[in-house]
This record gives sequence, structure tokens and C-alpha cells, in this order.
Amino acid sequence: MNGQFFIQLLNPGIGLLFATAFLLLWLNRRERYVAYAAAAYTASAIAFLILDVGPVLPMELQRLPANMGFLATGMLFAAAIIKRYDRPVPWRAMSVTAAISIAAFLWFLLGHPSIAARILTISIGAGIIAAMVVVALWPIEKRHLIDRVLFWVALFSALNLIVRPVVLLSLGGGFDDYIGFQQSVYWTTVQFTQAMVSIVAAISLMVAVALDQIAELRREADGDDLSGLLNRRGFEAQADAALRRAQSEARPVALLVADLDRFKSINDTHGHAVGDAIIAAFGAHVRRIGPAHMIAGRIGGEEFALLVPGASIEAARQIAEAVRTGLQAACADRIPANLCPTTSIGLAIGAPGATLSALMQEADQALYEAKRTGRNRVRTFTPKPVRLAAGA
Ligand code: GH3
Ligand code: MG
Ligand code: MG
Repeated sequence: MNGQFFIQLLNPGIGLLFATAFLLLWLNRRERYVAYAAAAYTASAIAFLILDVGPVLPMELQRLPANMGFLATGMLFAAAIIKRYDRPVPWRAMSVTAAISIAAFLWFLLGHPSIAARILTISIGAGIIAAMVVVALWPIEKRHLIDRVLFWVALFSALNLIVRPVVLLSLGGGFDDYIGFQQSVYWTTVQFTQAMVSIVAAISLMVAVALDQIAELRREADGDDLSGLLNRRGFEAQADAALRRAQSEARPVALLVADLDRFKSINDTHGHAVGDAIIAAFGAHVRRIGPAHMIAGRIGGEEFALLVPGASIEAARQIAEAVRTGLQAACADRIPANLCPTTSIGLAIGAPGATLSALMQEADQALYEAKRTGRNRVRTFTPKPVRLAAGA
């Protein structure tokens, strides 16, 4: 046993480390793509073990499973990234590519032995699999930095696997024997870049998994299951952020507060389940008709807030009227239409710089007016005229 032996343990060790890390992440949330990543690094650890520290098998026996393991690693890692974006995993195309690589590899192992040709077949096969990730991710909008990082990792891997062996082999020529190959600059470079690419890829995907899990937790913490809208906490957080953006863009915002009319009596007469169905119908209705950038939440039992950045008073009134008049139809596929309540809506327009609490107060005041003047209507907050003190 010598120093070389421990160096050789490096790649399998790294593979096992990442396999364990992805396994732990998978146990947390059980997402399929995380399981693929764990499987990919397990395959890589096994392949390197066979290759570097495996029992001294006849070379043919050692090479074949090791290279099949590398191709399996590539396929599983590609599947992990593609699945993260809910794209169809090209299993068939990847399997055909791997099978052709292995067939060519066998030919250059047994039929017409050539180390250089064997390198090319496996490396280019893996490169084509990496290129399939590039193709799958190409049309996807890369909104976050991590999406761009994953894309570039795939692109770099594809180029590294396809271009590198071609360049190095054309510079250095072939290899006379296996010992010469193992001591070559080529093989040292492969081991080094392979380890680097595999570490960068694993860390990028791990960061992606962590970000996905954080986003999922946030969705759970900020969402309201019954209405499918945000809950009060989520609404306030997103509305605050939207107000800050509107202020920096010097745009107005509209806030609508809607409250279902005489909801208690519906609950009391027809039961809580009917009440719940109405809340769910209201949530679905609002999501269907509201603009995409609207922030909508259930901020109380049967009270909802809708913030529409950039909306003029006229646009906001139109949205409010659409919410009010469309509710009956929206309820109809869940409960008998005659059980559906009407809704009262208070509307306030905030100039750039308005705070959420001030807007809420104004919209609440307008809602109170809507209730007071007969319900089933939209009222817009109008500031009271400033009364001048007598004699002024
Ligand atoms: P108003 O027109 O003045 O708004 O009268 P209201 O009956 O709608 O108002 P009130 O505030 O008296 O009653 C609200 C009712 O909403 C009380 C409660 O039974 C019901 N409620 C609150 N949360 C839920 C919920 O999650 N599910 C159901 N089914 N009912 C709820
Ligand atoms: Mg009510
Ligand atoms: Mg209420």
C-alpha cells in the first residue's frame, strides 16, 4: 500500500460523500430528481472503485464495468438535472448512446485494441449525454443564478468530454501500452478535471436542491390551503416587497379588500363544509380573473386582500367589479348557486411610497362603507376633505 493508493481513493471517496449527502437530502423531501443524483454519485463511486482500487482483475473485466459505471453516472446525473425542471428525461436516447459507446468500446478492447479509440468512445458517449442536458435546458427560462450555473456546468461538461480527448489525443498521439497510458499527462488531466467537474456539478445541484427545499418550505409557510391564495403572513411579505418596487418605479398600487356578505348565516344554516367550498371557489375565481402580477391573500376567515401594482383607479374598479359579479358563476360548480354569498369590496389607491398598513386602513374604511350602504358593492376610499377650522 503506498501514497498512490490513497490518491486513488479520492474519486470513489468523493462519490460516496456526495451520494450520502444527496441521500440525506432525498430522505428530507423524497423528490425523484434528488434520488437520481444520489444514484449518480453511487454509480460514480463504484466505477472508480472498480477502476482504481478494485481487485486486480484481468484488464478487460475491470475496464468494462468501470466504463459502464461512468456512463450510468452521466445518465443518472443528466436525469437529475432534467427532472428538476420537470422535463421528460430522454432515457431512450441516453441508453442508445451508452449502448453504442459500450459496443464501440468492446470492439476497441477485443476486436481491434486501441486505448486512444476506447477513450474517445466512452468520453464522447458521456459528452453526448451531457449535451442532452444542454438541449433540454436550452428553452427553459433561467430565472435564478442557480439555473444558469446548472446550464453552464452541463455545457462545460459536454465540451470537456467531447473536445478534450480529441485535442489531447491529437497532440500527444496514442498510447503504446496500458502503463504508458496510466502515467500519461492525458490520464492525469482526466482524473483531475473529472474530479473538478464532478465536484462543481455536485455542489451546484446540491445548492439547487437546498434552494428548492427552502422555496417549498416558504410556499407552505406563506400559503393558504383552502383558498389556494397566500395567507396573511405571505400576503404581507409579498405586498411589502411589491410596494417597495412600486415606489422605486414611481408607480401607483391598488389594494382591494373583499369580505363575503353574511357568511356566518350561510355557515350556520348549511354547514361549515359549504362555507369552505365558497372560500375555495372565491380563491380560484380571483386567481382566474386577476392579472398575473396581482398579489392575493386570505387575510381573515372570509376576508381577502388583492394588491395590484401599477393599476389605475379605473383598472382597479374593473377588477373589483369582475370579482364581485363573477362569484356566483364561480361557486356554481361546487355548491348550489343560490347558496353563494355576495361580496363587498373596499378599494384604495396608493401613491408611490404608500405603506401597506395605511392602504389597508383606507381599503377597510371603504369596505365598511360598502357594508354600511347595503353590501354587494364596491366602494373606493376618498380622503375626507380637510375642514378648515372656523375663522381660518
Ligand atoms: P358581514 O356581511 O357583515 O361580513 O357578515 P358575516 O356574517 O360575513 O361576518 P362575520 O364576521 O359575523 O362572520 C364571519 C364568519 O366567517 C364567521 C365564521 O363562521 C366564518 N368563517 C371564518 N373562517 C372560516 C373558515 O375557514 N371556514 C368557514 N366555513 N367559515 C369560516
Ligand atoms: Mg363577512
Ligand atoms: Mg369578515
